[in-house]
Amino acid sequence: MSIFGAVDFREHEQVVFVNEPSVGLKAIIAIHNTSRGPAFGGCRMYPYASEEDAVRDVLRLSRGMTYKAAITRLPYGGGKSVIIGDPARDKTADLLRAMGRAVATLQGRYIMADDVGTTVRDMEVVRTVTPYAAGLPDAAGEPCPATAYGVFQGILAVAAHRFGRQTGNEGPGSTGLDGNDLEGLTVAVQGLGSVGIRLCRYLHAAGARLTVADLNAARVEEAADRFGARPVPADEILFADVDVLSPNAMGAVFDDASIAGLRCRSVCGAANNQLATEAHGVALHRRGILYAPDFVVSAGGLIDIAHEGPAYDPATVLADCGRIRGITLDILQRAARDGQPTSQTALRIAEENFTVGGMRRAA
Ligand code: NAD
Repeated sequence: MSIFGAVDFREHEQVVFVNEPSVGLKAIIAIHNTSRGPAFGGCRMYPYASEEDAVRDVLRLSRGMTYKAAITRLPYGGGKSVIIGDPARDKTADLLRAMGRAVATLQGRYIMADDVGTTVRDMEVVRTVTPYAAGLPDAAGEPCPATAYGVFQGILAVAAHRFGRQTGNEGPGSTGLDGNDLEGLTVAVQGLGSVGIRLCRYLHAAGARLTVADLNAARVEEAADRFGARPVPADEILFADVDVLSPNAMGAVFDDASIAGLRCRSVCGAANNQLATEAHGVALHRRGILYAPDFVVSAGGLIDIAHEGPAYDPATVLADCGRIRGITLDILQRAARDGQPTSQTALRIAEENFTVGGMRRAA
């Protein structure tokens, strides 16, 4: 396969292939852009069907991180890493330490964190060999709910813009939970993992009516019991007739086939790279489905990391994630004014905030 000729190899600064057979480590670290600061991004462990799939994933995800940091004006660039393997079977402390040593060779150009298939506990193992691993567990060993809270803020922006709902305060000191009227708004949540289940809690508290699906039956049962959510089979959730569809499982959920069958009025969820290609943002726009760009509404985790340090305070992190509502609303309003797909408006605004080779990205 060609790397330099690959469509997704756009303006990446560096891609590192890591091979340590003694511990079964095959990994790729991609640094997309460091003009705003060190490349930051999670380490995903997944049993990719092919090496091409792993390369494509790490290239697309690292690029997305550049945009995520730029749209929220955080002092980071975009990076990501993938480990090819099954986390349930192949993840060992030796493998994590070997990955950490590979990250250490980049001397801070890349900072890793947890992602699908890795946990904040794994990052503690990695930190025994390199300081360039972020992600703090709370007292219960759980990651901060910042990502879910950020997606909730995105849904509040969608609710205000598309459905004319009152959505409380977002200013300093606001919990972001007061005065939000989502009473009766219907939301379908795909994926009830670390992000999805917490998102359900916020939505339920604001009065939304939930439809949910997950491959894990216990998760579905939990959402039904705690939030009165209506379960549907996993292969039906994308096509639910709802006000908001919230993808919080895997990427590339919107392609020609799925978009043709959608019955939702808007989309807002944490899953990275929901659009199979940029053209699918245009396709959603043509179908009149309001898309809150994933790299914007899922930025809570990154905002959380930016707060890490001795003065870390979860309440301050959540208040800062309130910015996601204003950023999202600005994108939705500008796109409506210009008659443009929201996906393209969001890319353009982010590109104003980072440079490539001394040039503004958009230039
Ligand atoms: P997770 O692994 O904890 O949860 C994902 C859930 O989706 C699991 O419960 C899984 O069973 C379910 N799932 C997988 N395929 C499914 C399908 N086809 N239909 C229904 N359910 C399915 O992951 P997470 O941390 O909750 O993250 C969810 C998404 O958000 C991921 O795409 C991740 O990359 C993205 N994201 C997460 C964060 C974060 O802070 N955790 C930040 C930004 C983006």
